[in-house]
Amino acid sequence: MQGGATLAGIARMAVLVAALCCATAHARQGDAYAQPRRALIAELQAEARADAGTTARIDRDVLDVLARVPRHEYVPANERENAYENRPLAIGHGQTISQPYIVALMTTLVRPRTGQKILEIGTGSGYQAAVLAEFDVQVCSIEIIAPLADQAAKRLKRYANVSTRKGDGYYGWKEQAPFDSIIVTAAASSIPPPLLAQLKPGGRMVIPVGSSFFTQTLMLVEKDAQGRARTRQVLPVRFVPLTGGH
Ligand code: SAH
Repeated sequence: MQGGATLAGIARMAVLVAALCCATAHARQGDAYAQPRRALIAELQAEARADAGTTARIDRDVLDVLARVPRHEYVPANERENAYENRPLAIGHGQTISQPYIVALMTTLVRPRTGQKILEIGTGSGYQAAVLAEFDVQVCSIEIIAPLADQAAKRLKRYANVSTRKGDGYYGWKEQAPFDSIIVTAAASSIPPPLLAQLKPGGRMVIPVGSSFFTQTLMLVEKDAQGRARTRQVLPVRFVPLTGGH
């Protein structure tokens, strides 16, 4: 048993050393992660084809953006090798960076259009904010965990069109409201009224709703020109809970 563990340990170390050498070699040539990122996009493309025509479809221009945003720069060093797997990853403080498929789907659902203003609740790693920023929109993103907010703010400095803030996103961002769309990346027990109030008529909100212990439902909220909200269920999901004192 002991010997087995030791051997496994050595094998793991060998893989790690090989991966590090490989990363260094590729880094000299440019993007060390271009190949795994291409593979991820191919996987998402296949899923997108399967979902074509449903509310869970993914737009081509969203996949093009995911193909150029370096997800490995938004995860901790120990998760970098897994950055292009289609799954959530731990980012510390009990939080996660969402699964790439979910990021692509939520981005498609909020329909970013040039010149729009989009609010994100739950900056986390900053990856979803970066994906939105690539659409030439103004992104406002709020994070409740201070160290995550600080780290994401640093990563997002490369985008002049992203503003970040620490605080409870349940209350939205009054000074920046109203928003063309709102994307909530933590599960709420119900749709927060302040967020609905800060959504423009004709705007869209994407939000996971449900208990933090079970599967939640990803909801699309559409506000019509008269300010009436219509809600559609998109798909069962699992997010970390929306916390805070509200
Ligand atoms: N969009 C993120 C996903 C992070 S997970 C990404 O791309 O990485 C959800 C995040 O929501 C966590 O970082 C969590 O701390 C944050 N969060 C939870 N409740 C919040 C609240 N009330 N206001 C703002 N952020 C909140």
